[in-house]
Amino acid sequence: MIKEIKIQLRDDKREIPQDISKVKFGKTFSDHMFLMDYNSKDGWHDARIVPHGPIPIDPGAMVFHYAQEIFEGMKAYRRPDGGVQFFRPYENIKRMARSGERVSMPAMDEDMFMEALRKLVEVDKDWVPSAAGSSLYIRPFMFATDVGLGVHASDSYLFCILTCPVASYYPEGINPIKIMIEDEDVRAVRGGTGFAKCGGNYAASIRASKRASEKGFSQVLWLDGVERKYIEEVGAMNIMFKIDGKIITPALNGSVLPGITRMSSMELLRSWGYEVEERLISVDELMEAAKNGKLEEAWGTGTAAVVSPVGRLTYKGEDFTVQDGGIGPVTQKLYDGLTGIQSGKVEDTFHWME
Ligand code: PMP
Repeated sequence: MIKEIKIQLRDDKREIPQDISKVKFGKTFSDHMFLMDYNSKDGWHDARIVPHGPIPIDPGAMVFHYAQEIFEGMKAYRRPDGGVQFFRPYENIKRMARSGERVSMPAMDEDMFMEALRKLVEVDKDWVPSAAGSSLYIRPFMFATDVGLGVHASDSYLFCILTCPVASYYPEGINPIKIMIEDEDVRAVRGGTGFAKCGGNYAASIRASKRASEKGFSQVLWLDGVERKYIEEVGAMNIMFKIDGKIITPALNGSVLPGITRMSSMELLRSWGYEVEERLISVDELMEAAKNGKLEEAWGTGTAAVVSPVGRLTYKGEDFTVQDGGIGPVTQKLYDGLTGIQSGKVEDTFHWME
């Protein structure tokens, strides 16, 4: 339990977007944010909900120099009965603790974290949209605030939670994406921080994404950092393939982020009777399957888009279409299954919602 959460409501209430479809993903923030400080002497302290706005911070703070920063991405949904529910929040809380451990940052007690999420969303409950496919995107993050140069773990940190009302990623139903297999840059390496959600990983991924986007692709498919041989993830999503009737997804080998949508997709697919394999899958195996017609479907999974069908793949100048560039039946069924549970329209037999 948090001893006390001080609440300072804003007096210049802003307008809540009425037409959520006009809101760009991650550009509109709700009225308030949650903040809490940490240092080794006092532990977690001074929990507060304050108006969303700038945070005074010394430019000598260690986060700016050595990137000791971690974050999470999760969603809350408006239920048909008007209530609000979180999708598997404890999985994000646990992942943030694992990320923090990797970059030597303190974990927050799980129940304290959940209390902060509940309280913040309660204060800004009117910002949770209700249109089909919309949600409240939640961004918890934490960073090093010790002032001084020199590489070592900071003693003090600020934990923060922001929220953004967001529309469905695909306003007119899910849309196939074009992806480029990246054989130069890598996102992460085994032994590094790929399994952790820390800002530095994303900085390293931007150059390849930019190059792909200039060539007309929406995402890059990342390969492993040693041989550029095995498939890892797609953009900021995990990747799944349906090859010859089986569903295959890269195993969690240390450089892949353990996605919560990935885990949920596997549980759902298995409950429907599909065989799901987590293993190494090489780009050669994928190309071979694409050439001989065995690559039936491909999709990415992640909190933002939930499920993204892959319609086209390019590797070293060779082009392949998947499902004739359309949406495969398993991809659609998975999207409908997950979003049905998240929105409260389908019974949550897995007890995922809080
Ligand atoms: N991989 C990366 C690199 C990501 O940033 C994300 C988004 N968190 C994912 C995969 C998907 O994870 P999740 O399903 O938990 O959103």
